[in-house]
Amino acid sequence: MDSLKSRFEKLPFEVPDEFRKALGDWFSAEGKDYPWRRTRDPYAILVSEMMLQQTRVAHVLGKGYFTRFLEAFPDVKSLAAADDSRLLKAWEGLGYYRRARMLRATAAAVLNDHGGIFPDDEATLLALPGIGPYTAAALLSFAFGKPSALVDGNVHRLLSRLMDDAAPIDQSATRKRHTDWARALCDPENPRRHHYAMMELGQTICRPGVPRCEVCPVGKFCKATEPQDLPMKKKRAAITEMAEHAIWIHDKEERVLLHRESGSRRNGLWKLPLRSQQECAGSKLIFSDTYTITRYKVTLKIYEGAGHFPEEGDEWISRDELTSIPMAAPFRRALIRLLADL
Ligand code: SF4
Repeated sequence: MDSLKSRFEKLPFEVPDEFRKALGDWFSAEGKDYPWRRTRDPYAILVSEMMLQQTRVAHVLGKGYFTRFLEAFPDVKSLAAADDSRLLKAWEGLGYYRRARMLRATAAAVLNDHGGIFPDDEATLLALPGIGPYTAAALLSFAFGKPSALVDGNVHRLLSRLMDDAAPIDQSATRKRHTDWARALCDPENPRRHHYAMMELGQTICRPGVPRCEVCPVGKFCKATEPQDLPMKKKRAAITEMAEHAIWIHDKEERVLLHRESGSRRNGLWKLPLRSQQECAGSKLIFSDTYTITRYKVTLKIYEGAGHFPEEGDEWISRDELTSIPMAAPFRRALIRLLADL
């Protein structure tokens, strides 16, 4: 087998223009029309990139998160001034709430340090809070039309296959090599279209599992012999199972006892009050649901509140208020079910 270096020199870099044209023509004909692809506003593009970092396109699109967030916070000024409650409410359902606070910190830095105008060079973008190499590359190409090295998970898979690169994609040397390839491949005439096309090709045709090579627009450049086996990954960290035990207490006026989280990854979000497993031992289980977050599989168990009492930090919230306060998705799902039975 030839070395990675010789593959790098041979293909597709010997014929980058032909590769770029095939890719660009395919995207012009087949590319999807997402709302964030209709704008060159760096703020709107940043919002979409932050949302899409750990959330699927279909989820962001299906519930209209992107459009609603921009209606609530149309520019860096409005976002920089947002209080925690409004910010988290606008982000509710997307999870990983740290992203919302980071987005606000970026908006504040653009407002205070750059007069509200996004910088258009890589070094200055990287100096902003919350902006890493991927997001800087996205802003450079999608907002400012400048060439960049944009590599998301779909592009890593595509490059592994195109170049028949069997090195694990979660190794830093592989990621660096893919970044170099992405930079060299980027179409200087139309970097925006080029990167949208690479990402979409990886998402829809060079998809996880068995790719659709029979309809691939760049199939003639591809070196993969067993593409379904690529990309390689190092062994994953084991999933840890855990349980959360919460109580359901409401009064005659249908106020519900809730607790506002602090000092945790859900800081500022509301949830049902948590108690220890021992404290809930004699209580009736009325709801159970399982969700996954990072490497944890969490079972949320909710018990009838008889015999339990409010503790420090717990608050009564009226039924009217419940819809307007920010709450993590697993607790929101539970609340909807439990309120339906009231
Ligand atoms: S030919 Fe197949 S494996 Fe190669 S880039 Fe296209 S879809 Fe991916």
